[in-house]
Amino acid sequence: MYLKCLEVHGFKSFANKIVFDFHNGITGIVGPNGSGKSNVADAVRWVLGEQSAKQLRGASMQDVIFAGTENRNPQSYAYVAITLDNSDHQLALDYEEVTIARRVYRSGESEYLINGNVCRMKDVKELFYDTGIGKEGYSIIGQGQIDRILSNKPEERRELFDEAAGIVKFKQRKNETQKQ
Ligand code: ATP
Ligand code: MG
Repeated sequence: MYLKCLEVHGFKSFANKIVFDFHNGITGIVGPNGSGKSNVADAVRWVLGEQSAKQLRGASMQDVIFAGTENRNPQSYAYVAITLDNSDHQLALDYEEVTIARRVYRSGESEYLINGNVCRMKDVKELFYDTGIGKEGYSIIGQGQIDRILSNKPEERRELFDEAAGIVKFKQRKNETQKQ
């Protein structure tokens, strides 16, 4: 499984629709300060269900919507979609490609989609359990995250090992059963 494509429209500094095509290898994103490199990583984190505006370096969730510039009107919504190659069927879906999308309007209205079908945030999270992908996964290592992992409490550090060992979905199911 690998990230094939990222589409952003109205997200942070990306006013227009932009499509990044990635290949099965290493991609570096370079550019001057403030050109939007970190916004690319923020877009991936956001589409995977990031709920904290602070994690996305904004004050409120609406801050992810393109705010406008001197010569451009603000956007009314932010949209991000990622397409993953699923030919190894690591994601438990019968598709060779899986596209996860998220849209939020200024009114606060928002939706998630898996391959074009509206779903809950929970569905997106569950799809990625034990893959290392996700807003708490280790596939996106933000600035300062290594330090945080090292200084975490042992129980918090254990969550990372659970994810890597592939037992999060079983733990989650156990908790849900115990709640019922
Ligand atoms: P550095 O090299 O300093 O890390 P960077 O390339 O990572 O820079 P980012 O932090 O990704 O840059 O982008 C910051 C830019 O994004 C700023 O110019 C900021 O004004 C712009 N930006 C962030 N949110 C919005 C928004 N909602 N609307 C318009 N522009 C935004
Ligand atoms: Mg940056």
